[in-house]
Amino acid sequence: MKLGILGGGQLARMLALAAYPLNIQCAFLDPAKDACAGPLGKFINAPYDDENGLNQLAQWADQIAFEFESVPASILKSLASQVPVFPGHKALLITQDRYEEKQFFQNLGVDTAAFVAVNTLDDLRKAVLSLGRPSILKSRRLGYDGKGQAFIDEHSDLAQAFESIGKVPSILEGYIKFDREVSIIAVRAENGDTKFYPLVENIHRHGILHTSFVLENDPQQQQAENMVRKLMDNLDYVGVIVLELFQVGDQLLANEYAPRVHNSGHWSIEGAVTSQFENHIRAVCGKPLGDTGMTVPSAMINIIGSLPDCNEVLKIPGAHLHLYNKQAREGRKLGHVTVCAKTDSLLRQHVDKIMPLARIIPPAAEKQD
Ligand code: AMP
Repeated sequence: MKLGILGGGQLARMLALAAYPLNIQCAFLDPAKDACAGPLGKFINAPYDDENGLNQLAQWADQIAFEFESVPASILKSLASQVPVFPGHKALLITQDRYEEKQFFQNLGVDTAAFVAVNTLDDLRKAVLSLGRPSILKSRRLGYDGKGQAFIDEHSDLAQAFESIGKVPSILEGYIKFDREVSIIAVRAENGDTKFYPLVENIHRHGILHTSFVLENDPQQQQAENMVRKLMDNLDYVGVIVLELFQVGDQLLANEYAPRVHNSGHWSIEGAVTSQFENHIRAVCGKPLGDTGMTVPSAMINIIGSLPDCNEVLKIPGAHLHLYNKQAREGRKLGHVTVCAKTDSLLRQHVDKIMPLARIIPPAAEKQD
């Protein structure tokens, strides 16, 4: 079987590594010459809207998937007339616009922070009066890892805040004083079979995911499963999906979803019976889904901006190093470490040893990739 993937970054690279034992070959279309998945399959070096490149991919592949959200949804739609594309373009289209996404959540009865659409400075003024301060202004499109956002507190100048995100169509969100940030990763097959990974607690630094701890038997698991199930059923979803959530007391509020494998699920390569990557491949290629259970207490630490002393990382018991073969750059995800241990307390000890090695070089002016 041949799987074409739009995008050739680390997610495509780890998808290809999971596809290999199943004898599924991968091709990647990516505009970057040095896309890090490139060496793991057939590489088509072309922009995402390049007709020749897309035709090559469609003619070669039996199925098409994508690894990130900035692929134009219209391209998925037109590819789908030639080859099956999973997840479908609707899941992508909704998540490309924060306002549409929040409305989608609301229509499904999935709770979110309060939000208001903002198109002009005048709208922003009215929105801040209605939602109060603090609040967060976010561009509707092309925002990730905290990019395109302005925090608004009692000192903020609204004109400056609007200017800082480029005066583009935006939403203002009420600021949530969350107890923790969690995410749930789920997978759904074409026949409707659905499985859920355990909830993961996520800790961000400089707006980028830094550490994920897997939470087995968490009291919020069922609530999170119910929320993500609503999304998947409504979208008739096929593949892995992640829903990022804020926890306030016992309540979960949806922040955003991503129709793909996700950084907070990287632990599953070593820590779950079936990794998120393998399950995504299984779902989009029409194969039975694998068990999503955690086999051993696990955590994940991202390597951001600079490489650690790799041998020192490898000396730590239960540490598994994944390097993406990307050029080091401030704020860039270069790899991750999964840590597995027999008990939660051993896991914490091993994670504590890795922390000083995985020194973050944060984004300079802007948050990146
Ligand atoms: P996002 O790009 O929406 O994922 O936001 C990036 C990070 O900003 C999140 O992981 C949160 O830590 C924080 N954040 C986003 N929206 C809110 C909110 N409404 N209230 C509090 N923190 C938020």
